[in-house]
Amino acid sequence: MSSGIGGSTAETELAALKPWPDPAPAITAAERGDRLRHAQALMAELGAEALIIGAGASLRYFTGVGWNATERLVAMVLPREGGPTMICPRFELGSLEASLGVDAPIALWEEHENPYALVAGVLEAAGAKTLAVDPALPFFAFHGLRKAAPGVAPLDGAPIVDGCRMIKSPAELALMSQAKAMTLEVHRRAARMLAAGITTTAVRRFIDQAHRALGADDGSSFCAVQFGLASAYPHGLPGEQKLARGDIVLIDTGCRVQGYNSDITRTYVFGEPSAEQRRVWDVEKRAQAAAFAAVKPGVPCEEIDAVARRVLESAGFGPDYALPGLPHRTGHGIGLSIHEAPYLVRGDKTPLQPGMCFSNEPMIVLPDAFGVRLEDHFYVTETGAAWFTEPQPSLDEPFRAKN
Ligand code: ZN
Ligand code: ZN
Repeated sequence: MSSGIGGSTAETELAALKPWPDPAPAITAAERGDRLRHAQALMAELGAEALIIGAGASLRYFTGVGWNATERLVAMVLPREGGPTMICPRFELGSLEASLGVDAPIALWEEHENPYALVAGVLEAAGAKTLAVDPALPFFAFHGLRKAAPGVAPLDGAPIVDGCRMIKSPAELALMSQAKAMTLEVHRRAARMLAAGITTTAVRRFIDQAHRALGADDGSSFCAVQFGLASAYPHGLPGEQKLARGDIVLIDTGCRVQGYNSDITRTYVFGEPSAEQRRVWDVEKRAQAAAFAAVKPGVPCEEIDAVARRVLESAGFGPDYALPGLPHRTGHGIGLSIHEAPYLVRGDKTPLQPGMCFSNEPMIVLPDAFGVRLEDHFYVTETGAAWFTEPQPSLDEPFRAKN
């Protein structure tokens, strides 16, 4: 048996977990002010006189309000000059004020009123004839806006939203470092509580409880536990599996700290690995390392994907998305959304810049057999890249022994 797998229980591992000892500081009002000014500078470049952001990760980014989008409009309208205005249902005012992290007047609407008329009023007061629209705004909201402000030309707001969000500040890097370190610790303990016959459901429950014990915002933000054949499907198979000796164990999970995401995958074997499992794991390790080594400011995102694929192809996998091989992109941006622009994928020519954050997960799938995915995240530095979490040392030592 590899070291650090099995031999303990869920109770023992949970009992050892305490809230994270030195939590990263929250995003300050001053930093949010910088974000709004950055957005206004990008609005000027784009020719947008105003920007609308609906509830979701981008609203949290600009205002601190971490609400999910529903049929009721909650939004920020930001003119090119001056401060933002919030749009909110009147009955939600108290909740909004409790989480609002910027200075902004709040325009309120009652249940029977048209919130888009309020947006039109803000645009008119600002003299805005062009409006950059949050790409995540639902179509019904876009449609409502068009009807309420027919004289305002909509623009794709992605260059503004992504232009701000894709470069992370030191405070954001610290929050993500904490989230990722917490998830790696959860992985380490999850490996120890495994036992023959344990179900994927029991492991997922443990992982959620462990994330909570460490102080994650809301337990696991997602969790995939795949044993044996199920590991050959990047996002698993429906139903429950039981762990058997010789099974590949593939666990992909994450949590949030003040909205910032972790997302880490570990793959190891419960029992003695076969020669084939070892061979594939070693190729995966080399592909992940090569992708990391190729990161440098100015390199296009798609090149990192190409580098990982070249390692896989030289070992007889692929080409391209063909199986056995890597059926998806090498990685995704991460921040307040678990998947966000830019992407490590063919066709994404965005040049890497210091402060960008990505997953590095060039999974290998062997159809009808098993899959191996090693996923860690890195951020781009002035000279290359830095890992948030140390990649899996080896198949036999999935987690570095703690001293
Ligand atoms: Zn993942
Ligand atoms: Zn991922």
